[in-house]
Amino acid sequence: MCADALHETPVRGRFAPSPTGPLHFGSLIAAVGSFLHARSRGGQWLVRMEDLDGPREVPGARDDILRTLEAHGLEWDGPVRRQSDGLALYEAALARLMRDGLVYPCACTRREIADSALQGIEGAIYPGTCRGGLPAGRMPRSWRVRVPAMPTTFIDDAHGELTQDVAADVGDFVLKRADGLFAYQLAVVVDDADQGITEVVRGADLLGSTARQIVLQQMLALPKPTYLHLPVAVNPAGEKLSKQSLAPRIAPETASLNLLAVLSFLGQAPAADLRGAPVAAIVAWAIEHWNARALPRARTLPAP
Ligand code: GLU
Repeated sequence: MCADALHETPVRGRFAPSPTGPLHFGSLIAAVGSFLHARSRGGQWLVRMEDLDGPREVPGARDDILRTLEAHGLEWDGPVRRQSDGLALYEAALARLMRDGLVYPCACTRREIADSALQGIEGAIYPGTCRGGLPAGRMPRSWRVRVPAMPTTFIDDAHGELTQDVAADVGDFVLKRADGLFAYQLAVVVDDADQGITEVVRGADLLGSTARQIVLQQMLALPKPTYLHLPVAVNPAGEKLSKQSLAPRIAPETASLNLLAVLSFLGQAPAADLRGAPVAAIVAWAIEHWNARALPRARTLPAP
């Protein structure tokens, strides 16, 4: 791609699946929503495999996800990036935060934190045990970021202005885990900046992570993308569709029907005569008619 093309295409979105299983209806929503939001404004759309957590990766899932995207007419730009190829970038970001005194080593085990912590939005709020230095005789296990004691406010293009006090709600969170893996929160921020992503469109289950990501962007002086969080599809038990909740694999053979179901779920009211239309016609209609204002504001909605 030439530099001019990059310059003329300021919008760049992405879909960032974890290759822990095949796509299901829930992940297809994030794929279609991020694709349409970028493409409807002439933007690029990248696919990134979030495969940092090697032990959770399922062999064959990466290719299966890509074939399923292709079957649904969701063509991506450029090569598919794998997080596992970018470890040097995360290492460099952590080194910068170390240099600036914004991270510290932590010796606490999960059990120790659970014993002393209050519950926050995502389990235990780290009580700050190692913030002032490791207790005598303890070895470092993980690296935590020193979260500033001030609220973070951001605009979500579906949900409006949102504020979260990361220090109070989450506490100093882990950037490098005791098992040596980089945490999602650091990797996603570094990758989005490195890939020039201008807009993050994903499920509303990640709304609660956004303030943490903005805190890291500020510390690393990285540009802030715009955010748009889509409703999350839940099963009759109210659980997010996921591998854990045994969501069925999306069938590439019924791609046209799947696309229409996703468009309805996203409030796009696909034209009746699209029923039975080929994938390419549905995707072309959806790019032309994408209306982010019609997105349901609910954070969760029943899957069809
Ligand atoms: N890899 C994450 C997931 O599959 C998505 C991360 C993101 O879009 O920021 O839930």
